[in-house]
Amino acid sequence: MKKSAAISLHIPPRMWCDFRKSMLKDRSFNEEVIGFLFCQRHQVSKHKIRYIPRNWVVPTSDCYEYQSTSGLVLKQHFHSYLLENYLQPGLDVVHIHTHADPGLPDFSYVDDRYESEYARFISSHFPKKPYLISGVFDEDLQFGKFRIWDRKGQKFEPVNFCNSLFEISSVKDVMNNTDLMFVRQKIFGSANQNVLHQLKVGLIGCGGIGSIFAELLGRLGVKNWVLVDPDKLETVNLNRMPGATEEMVRQEWDKVHYVKHLIQKIYQEGSCVTTIPTTVKSELSRQEISTCDLIVVATDNHFSRKTAQELALKYMRPLVCLGTHIAVNSDNTPRMYCRITVPPMGGGWCLMCGNIISLQRAALESAPLEINQMVAGAGYLEGVNDPAVFWLNSICASTGVGVIHGMVSGFLNVDSGIDWIYEFPVSDWRKTNTEYLQTDHCYFCGMGSLEEVVEDSDFEDSEIMGW
Ligand SMILES: [Zn+2]
Ligand SMILES: [Zn+2]
Repeated sequence: MKKSAAISLHIPPRMWCDFRKSMLKDRSFNEEVIGFLFCQRHQVSKHKIRYIPRNWVVPTSDCYEYQSTSGLVLKQHFHSYLLENYLQPGLDVVHIHTHADPGLPDFSYVDDRYESEYARFISSHFPKKPYLISGVFDEDLQFGKFRIWDRKGQKFEPVNFCNSLFEISSVKDVMNNTDLMFVRQKIFGSANQNVLHQLKVGLIGCGGIGSIFAELLGRLGVKNWVLVDPDKLETVNLNRMPGATEEMVRQEWDKVHYVKHLIQKIYQEGSCVTTIPTTVKSELSRQEISTCDLIVVATDNHFSRKTAQELALKYMRPLVCLGTHIAVNSDNTPRMYCRITVPPMGGGWCLMCGNIISLQRAALESAPLEINQMVAGAGYLEGVNDPAVFWLNSICASTGVGVIHGMVSGFLNVDSGIDWIYEFPVSDWRKTNTEYLQTDHCYFCGMGSLEEVVEDSDFEDSEIMGW
């Protein structure tokens, strides 16, 4: 455990809500309860480690050998079952328990003793030597603190706990109120403006929608970007890319550099833009995207959307998906659509099980060139000359930026995800009822808790560890 790294535990709001509810439900029968989260460790940077929950379990009362205000003892077989299933694959364990006193609780002497023993026990009994993170909360699970133990159970360090969409402190570096540029946005609160300033956005696709999106979100206050797009500017793009010129096309500008140029025109100083002129498939793209607070995908292909969704699920980051489509009716009149999709962070449904993208097309797009040419010849793929206009892309990009503004400022709840489709010229916003998209069994986002499993308690009665 490196001393210099800041360690955080980021539980998405929906997951924390479910976990907390489950803990509180159990507490109505028992004096104290415990809950487990099994987390993946993600080294965001040299100085930052983030723990991302993969599963959680709140044992029901029949899983306990002994349960009272003074301590808890899980049945050994149940406990072994938990650890073998979740720690074997290389996850670390987070253990949360409550104290009956109101207000911010502190770890007790008993906690210290048991946790130290427990930290040593798990690190010596599992090949991947998992770490123990422990949390103590008040009985309403409102106030709590976390710490991580070393493998010898001798020392611990504090862990920052975050249960919001973005892991950004709104109090740090309070915005300079003399910043005239954002005076007209004061109504949304300076704390929210401050989050926008710190937010790091990974934008996959810097074309017709991505460029407008970057211009708009940049003007809103976002200065930190990772831009991914393998293409260069072409003359056919000039109908819909703000500020793009024929000269840039002649000079063969990468689209990522053109969008960086847009951001730097907004901020003469203080912006930080990483450009990656390759596909999202590249290792570099994946690495950089994994450091972002938010992933936005604005490409015209299914494969990069699928990859973006996989990254968002893996690193537990919110994903915003933007797209437009122009079709032609039999009488030659156009029907135009734009779509803004935000799958719930941490599962529930995703672009794949929600059928927002086609896996078949994603597979074709990632196939070797010959196969693609063959399929295109057979009429399976839409051409690269798909119709696209600036104003339709702008509706899509603006709404996407509005959604993000709402996520940051809290005026839009995206916990269950959103999927909005605008149709022009009928001028209809259709909102998918995301309840119908919920699924437990998706290959990509399925990550059910173990609540049902733990009801069954055919466990041997003997003590292993108590709290
Ligand atoms: Zn305790
Ligand atoms: Zn899914």
